[in-house]
Amino acid sequence: MKTLADRKRALLQADREAALAEKRRQLRELGAHDLVRQLDDDSTSWRQSPWYKPGADPSGVFVDMVGEELRAAMADLGASAARLDSVRVVTTLDQAVSAQMTPFDDGSGLVIVADGIFGMCSSYCQYLALCADKRSHATSRPTAFWRLLRDLGKGEVFGYEDVLTALLRYHTAHQRALAVSMQLGVRLSPEGERYAAQLGHLAYRFVVGHEMAHHVLGHSHGPSAFAPGEHLPACSADDRRERDADRLAFQATRRASDRQSHSRWETMVMLERATMAALMAMMALHVAERTLFVHRGCTHPPAAVRTGWLLEQLKPGKQRSTRRLLRVPMKATEAATDLSEHARPFSWQALDPDLVFSPMPRSYLEAVGDLDALQCETEDFHVAWLERHATADTAWLGEGARLAAAGEPASALRRWGVDEETSHALCNPQRALTFFTLKEHITRSFNERGIAEPWLAPHALAAGMLIARRVQPRRAPLAQGPDGRPAQEPPAPNSSPG
Ligand SMILES: [Zn+2]
Repeated sequence: MKTLADRKRALLQADREAALAEKRRQLRELGAHDLVRQLDDDSTSWRQSPWYKPGADPSGVFVDMVGEELRAAMADLGASAARLDSVRVVTTLDQAVSAQMTPFDDGSGLVIVADGIFGMCSSYCQYLALCADKRSHATSRPTAFWRLLRDLGKGEVFGYEDVLTALLRYHTAHQRALAVSMQLGVRLSPEGERYAAQLGHLAYRFVVGHEMAHHVLGHSHGPSAFAPGEHLPACSADDRRERDADRLAFQATRRASDRQSHSRWETMVMLERATMAALMAMMALHVAERTLFVHRGCTHPPAAVRTGWLLEQLKPGKQRSTRRLLRVPMKATEAATDLSEHARPFSWQALDPDLVFSPMPRSYLEAVGDLDALQCETEDFHVAWLERHATADTAWLGEGARLAAAGEPASALRRWGVDEETSHALCNPQRALTFFTLKEHITRSFNERGIAEPWLAPHALAAGMLIARRVQPRRAPLAQGPDGRPAQEPPAPNSSPG
């Protein structure tokens, strides 16, 4: 018998086919012919691989495998067989979802994880692999050795903060502006590649494990208007639930590694890696939730709080050394979520080509930097930008900007040509909204009113920032506050996934 979760999963898989076709079209339009060729090559080798199943794509098969590993691990840890049997896992290209568990009326549950989250986790893991590569290299080269000593002297076991920040900002700038998930490549040794892939697998296991844990632990909300038979995502502002889900996910991630290890040494190494991977996964979710959304329906607590919970499960000595390891990744995470005038926007020119690479043309990479820089300007700058570009025929551009800055975002949207109902919906803090969706509505109106490229994209971005700034709740800082805990954002009641 098919459960409601099975049915929803089948629908999402069908959407995925269409979304992949759309992604290829976008990439062709962006001139990323190398990347399209790479996708074609990937799908050819996928069809020849032993895991190939007609109608399935590699990420679907991978997520099924991760789901099975977790099911076995959670059964070992004493989870109810009935709960484990009724949970399904699926991936989506939809950027309006980060990771969530949706409970259904028939008792089944569906874990949905966006591809973008996997991409973000893998950026963190590639960064860790880069650091590991450089450390092993340092023992053979004097210059690298001195650099390592300098970093260690600063108490920073990992250096390359700027590289990690750039990897993350490249990713989020794409998701905000284009709703596509794009990554830079990191130059790794073959050993580093294997290390990064293994960490990525573990990080993904933690992300899926957290959502599965909500189902296994029986966390669900009351019925909602989201869709008949479906309830709100189980992630909530309830700290205790989140903490319990994190704890079970962490234990299951480590348990699954334990099952696959063949020696005590291997077990020790795998446990160490599973810990780092879980911490990277938390940071990836933190970045996605802080940058993709204007307001979020479903949310996880800030990474600093979750990191504290997770570290509590380690021995005191291990806690201290892990905290030290986290210093640079935490700083880069903070820098990646900064969209204020103090941010350091993505800059391809500033990156060391010996460390990162991209199949995209240079002009494209520089344009991503310009776009990131534009979104990090001040409110005054964005108003002045739209006023400066307004002509006698498009005076409404500047008028809307002034309305937004005066604290009337819905009127600003109306002035820019967005219909009344949509304008109000976009400004409703109780609805989940991604920055891209907001920007898309503005782009459409501007386009209908005769604004064309090359101005359409920057104008819509400036306008989107003016609205987002006025309708989004204050961002909780990643760093700990004076009371030792970051301030929590207020929960969004009656919110629904976007
Ligand atoms: Zn949760």
